[in-house]
Amino acid sequence: MSCLFCRIAAKEIPAAIVYEDEKVLAFNDIAPQAPVHILLIPKQHVDSIVDCKEVNSIFAVIKQIAKEKGIEATGYRIVVNHGRDAGQAVPHLHFHLLGGRQLNWPPG
Ligand code: 5GP
Ligand code: ZN
Repeated sequence: MSCLFCRIAAKEIPAAIVYEDEKVLAFNDIAPQAPVHILLIPKQHVDSIVDCKEVNSIFAVIKQIAKEKGIEATGYRIVVNHGRDAGQAVPHLHFHLLGGRQLNWPPG
């Protein structure tokens, strides 16, 4: 298995897991860009958001984690980078959940 996030989902590579269920895994980003920076992935490999059947589940988990991390009231950003120009580095669909500081727009 070569995909980095598939290997994290399979527990072959350690990650600081924040939430897990049958279909969704959430873990801290290794290079956080905000006080809260969590990645949410469908456990089953999907390249693109348009092929992801777990989007609803992932958003429900985002809402739950935002509450737990105390950023629900202050706000947060959900980011999906897709393809080269967006700077996508890992080709396994992942949602960035960023919060805990003022986020500038547009991002770099
Ligand atoms: P992308 O640029 O593809 O949207 O984001 C990939 C994210 O994965 C980056 O924010 C990067 O810091 C994070 N990342 C890369 N390798 C690892 C890793 O091995 N473990 C964790 N937890 N995050 C990683
Ligand atoms: Zn994968």
